[in-house]
Amino acid sequence: MQMIEPNNIPYPFTLLDTLNEGICMFDRQGRCLYVNCKGMEIVGKARDELLGKNMGGPFPERLGTRFYVEAQRAIEENHPIGIEIYDSLTKRWLALRYYPSSEGLSILILDITERKEFEQRKDDFINMASHELKTPVTALKGLTQVLIEQLTQAAMTEAISLLTMIDAQIDRLTKLVDDLLNVSKIQAGHLAYDRSPVDVDALVRETTALLQTSTPTHTLNVSGATQTVIIGDKDRLRQVIINLITNAIKYSPQANCIDILLSSTAESIHIAVRDYGIGIPKTAQQHIFDRFYRVDNKTIPGLGMGLYIAHEIVQYHGGKLTVESEEGKGSTFVISLPIS
Ligand code: ADP
Repeated sequence: MQMIEPNNIPYPFTLLDTLNEGICMFDRQGRCLYVNCKGMEIVGKARDELLGKNMGGPFPERLGTRFYVEAQRAIEENHPIGIEIYDSLTKRWLALRYYPSSEGLSILILDITERKEFEQRKDDFINMASHELKTPVTALKGLTQVLIEQLTQAAMTEAISLLTMIDAQIDRLTKLVDDLLNVSKIQAGHLAYDRSPVDVDALVRETTALLQTSTPTHTLNVSGATQTVIIGDKDRLRQVIINLITNAIKYSPQANCIDILLSSTAESIHIAVRDYGIGIPKTAQQHIFDRFYRVDNKTIPGLGMGLYIAHEIVQYHGGKLTVESEEGKGSTFVISLPIS
């Protein structure tokens, strides 16, 4: 393509000047061929400072090396890439979309500051609300336990049975508040981890046995062994196993068993949780570990936090959480952890 003169923008490029999104186009050598008005505004430079110049020169360093690294990656992989970066000078959040082609690269720049601010307010609210909820819920749990003890001594069976139901609802509430708190901590990078030896087989068998006591609908079958002790956070890993098994139960209402398979290789251990339930559509599988993501399902309630937290915990341990699933047939979630 011929270079566009800064003072002589041809039609139909002139139309792009009315857009509220920035557009920059580069040739295969990385020279800027075109930039629209919004693009100039975002970059903070005039057209004659940009056109014909190399991407590395006129584009401000404050956008960070990621700006160039991702451009290079998009060209090499010949695949569109989207990133979000913070412009520290203008204090704006920008979404960059790189579209490579055989003739060069187009970059679409969107100002997403408002969306980011809204997300931040939402995160702040979740953080504050979960902290505020934690105290009364903990108090309620304690008081219920005391009452159950007193009523047991007074042999008031009917009241005990009602209170036990209240206690179970408080446990549900506690789990929700804890999940909200964990999500907030992950977002803020503050989720604390312990490090101690963890006997994987014992942890899985204990956790499964405990869950079985409150699961009348499904038989939880554990088979295999890893015969491995890893270094990690036992409580957090237990949280991951509980989440996968309770999901397996929840999303297989028509089935009556869950299989939990332990295995290992020279480098890693694997804990597979298989259910024979509703399964997950292919298109949803790539989002399943995103925060607050739920497959469109009106009948089974949930908030889409468990798998996000589980994924984060497994990643912290240097491992991977993966899923294989077929709609209508069931799902297998696999925790793979490196042997420390
Ligand atoms: P929640 O179950 O509270 O919605 P999760 O983060 O645990 O949140 O799960 C996210 C979504 O993944 C669920 O809403 C559900 O659509 C899907 N999902 C999770 N586990 C399974 C499973 N074993 N079978 C089918 N779908 C599942």
